[in-house]
Amino acid sequence: MPIFDDYYTFSALRSLIASHTITVSEVVTQLLKRIQEQQDLNAFVNVYDNQITENAVVMDQKIRAKKAKALAGMVIGLKDMICYKDHPLHAGSKILTNYISPFHATVTERLLAADALIIGHQNCDEFGMGSSSENAHFGTVLNPLDKTRVAGGSSGGSAAAVKAKMCHVSIGTDTGGSVRQPASFCGLVGLKPSYGRISRHGLVAYASSFDTAGILAHTVEDCARVLGIIAGPDEWDDTTYPKQVPDYLNELNKSGRYRIAYLEETLSNDGLQSEIKEQTIKALNLLKKEGHQIDSIHFRLLKYALPTYYILVNAEASTNLARFDGMRYGFRSSNATTLEEVYTKTRTEGFSKEVKKRIMLGTFVLSASQCAKHYIKASKVRNLIKQEMQKILSNHDFIILPTTTATAFRVNSFANNPLAMYWSDLYTVLASVAGLPAISLPNGVDNKNLPIGIQVIGNSFEEEKLLAFSHHFENIMACQ
Ligand code: GLN
Repeated sequence: MPIFDDYYTFSALRSLIASHTITVSEVVTQLLKRIQEQQDLNAFVNVYDNQITENAVVMDQKIRAKKAKALAGMVIGLKDMICYKDHPLHAGSKILTNYISPFHATVTERLLAADALIIGHQNCDEFGMGSSSENAHFGTVLNPLDKTRVAGGSSGGSAAAVKAKMCHVSIGTDTGGSVRQPASFCGLVGLKPSYGRISRHGLVAYASSFDTAGILAHTVEDCARVLGIIAGPDEWDDTTYPKQVPDYLNELNKSGRYRIAYLEETLSNDGLQSEIKEQTIKALNLLKKEGHQIDSIHFRLLKYALPTYYILVNAEASTNLARFDGMRYGFRSSNATTLEEVYTKTRTEGFSKEVKKRIMLGTFVLSASQCAKHYIKASKVRNLIKQEMQKILSNHDFIILPTTTATAFRVNSFANNPLAMYWSDLYTVLASVAGLPAISLPNGVDNKNLPIGIQVIGNSFEEEKLLAFSHHFENIMACQ
């Protein structure tokens, strides 16, 4: 029997299944073994081993009967922010203890309808708030490439699981970089589609005007395959884009000569790790050699992106998290005697310090005396950033920038300096503020052999072009 290491991408696995070299049951057995052997990574919160083992048998029968759908044999992990009917969901928080999801997220429903198998829920920062998966009720996720370092966040468990070959693909959520940054820290492909491309129905809300589901995979092809299944309009989410979803796989090999902009300020930033700067410039030069036009653009609003992001997401989070009151979901404090105590003690004991800090900041920026000064002002700056990005993209096909300012950092690096951790999101929040699709692709390694990510931002709802270009970039890098 072939060993899993040789077919960890779904494209490789499909042909083995088609040629009856391997069964889905054998694949699942090997994946479960890898999860068992690598528990120290802390990638999973729950593994649905019995259920997936049974479902794999059914899938093999379906394949033999030639009734299987597009994702038959693909094993997927869900971030602990995505509803899977009749399964626990915690959003990485104590406050959802004992909560069982009564319905499927649209994403989950579509994956299952396409015959994907779900292996478990993956560890993450509480409510997606963090950049390292250290702010997780279930403990820190470790990077499979160097266990003294973080896997990134907030979808850290999802990135670690794909990298450590515990599943083929993970579905994460990305509000300000939570799919792209862990993908970059673990040497994977991480796609955040345009806001509205994938339904948010059944995703735990952090900041509703920023939240997107995203995909972590080894290859652009696997990403495209999954996006084609989960994207598209949904009656449960009015913000979904109504138009038909293109055939991403079919478009993957389309090529072109593109106009690419890079943002001068992202490369001249003193805080940028030198090897990331070098690798980004090297990639731009390679693209130039391939015949693409590379233009340097000034983006003076860059320094406002992060404050704008953190004011707005905290404001939205403070209202979204109001529903966790000890009445409707999961945990309720056992020390409360009055109604008011139920609310206050449940929230005091159920949320972590970081989440409480953000709720308070969000409440502050929305308060009557502060709203115009902070929330309204940030909303206006968000519009300016959006317009400026759209202006660049009206003359260019893509914007390229590093995914992160540094490679995976050591566990506990920012324990005493949370603001420095926020600054590490500088390059990912840009596409989130503007609602644009963005992908992180592996772009070599630093001198410690840690992966570097490069980010490509495209025009709204042009994921097919973004994916085709990313596939082209992947091929160029493979020839290096
Ligand atoms: N690190 C960012 C934050 O804490 C992004 C998180 C995310 O995308 N969910 O807000």
